Amino acid sequence: MKWKVALSDLNFDHREEKIVSQVIQSKWLTMGEMVKKLERNFANFLGVKHAFAVSSGTAALHLALRVLDIEAKDEVLVPSLTFVASSNAILYVGAKPVFVDITSLSDFNLSCDDLENKITSKTKAIMIVHYGGYLADMNRIKKIAKKHGLFVIEDSAHAIGVKFKSKIAGGIGDFGCFSFFSNKNMATGEGGMLVTNQDKFAEKIRLLRSHGMTSMTWDRHIGHAYSYDVTELGYNYRMTEMNAALGIEQLKKLSNSNRIRRALIKIYIENLEETTGLSIPFLNYPRDSAFHLFPILLDKDINRGKFMETLRRKKIQTSIHYPPIHKFSYYQKNFRASPNKLPLTEYVGEHEVTLPLHPLLKEKDILFVCDQIKRALPSLKR
Ligand SMILES: *Cc1c(COP(=O)(O)O)cnc(C)c1O
Repeated sequence: MKWKVALSDLNFDHREEKIVSQVIQSKWLTMGEMVKKLERNFANFLGVKHAFAVSSGTAALHLALRVLDIEAKDEVLVPSLTFVASSNAILYVGAKPVFVDITSLSDFNLSCDDLENKITSKTKAIMIVHYGGYLADMNRIKKIAKKHGLFVIEDSAHAIGVKFKSKIAGGIGDFGCFSFFSNKNMATGEGGMLVTNQDKFAEKIRLLRSHGMTSMTWDRHIGHAYSYDVTELGYNYRMTEMNAALGIEQLKKLSNSNRIRRALIKIYIENLEETTGLSIPFLNYPRDSAFHLFPILLDKDINRGKFMETLRRKKIQTSIHYPPIHKFSYYQKNFRASPNKLPLTEYVGEHEVTLPLHPLLKEKDILFVCDQIKRALPSLKR
């Protein structure tokens, strides 16, 4: 399908081409100077002490849980209205994801009340997700975590560059996990970053990222080491130089792309706010956003399948964020013993639609989408 208005698009130009060809000419393809530079630049951008480039956002989440020694019988609180990677990472370490409902139909971030209700003696950590880039209520989450002695992992896959007082999303909790998957605000194809301010975790992250080996290929290449020991059961979660090179250029563009996203959402809101048949979440949201997604909520009596199909016929791509995790068959099968009731999450899972949003969109594209929506809605009542 050649979309007229695609859901997301890559903001790439000659700069990305140039830096990747530099990597190819250098003949060093993984964990070299580009990775080091991206880690340095990313840590500076966030104002955090340590940033570790990894092969994906999922790898970052998995490493954070491993470093905290979270394991079987432990519980980790996590929203169900998120990408399945957030809770899969919890299953990778054998722990139990305990799903938390969202705050309301206008705030899709997790509910701090529900969160507090679900804390047990087994709870070890809270994995929060800044839905769509909208910063969760970190003040309150940190207070709850402190009171109950829990770690906070920020799944910041949607939220690169969101300010919170003197900090930036991902640098507020114990760990921040970022994804540079192709449709994220910063895209390298596959890739991610794990950040922390705590020195005591840094060495273990470095080890776990590369099979628990005490020296790297690069150190041996430059003659700093001849052999190595293996001191942990680690993984191959390394980042390639091509991915890191793309990340270096994408990071330079990030602040401007996020500004463009903000302006585009403003146009959407101006044109859709009064439309009957839908509502817009996060209006007058009290905290900042990286504007990764533009979600809308269709009224109960609008057929979502037909709505998305009507836009598809106009070559407008839409999506759903998210089918709730606790409803997936794998999760149903394995968690039948503790059925979760998450009424708001389930409602949003049934009525949410995500509209196109990326920094290459023009005002006329948004106006076209809004116009098609207004034409379509009246005939879609059930
Ligand atoms: C994309 C995403 C991830 C996983 O990132 P990958 O780089 O694809 O592994 C995790 N959590 C959320 C909320 C995401 O959107």
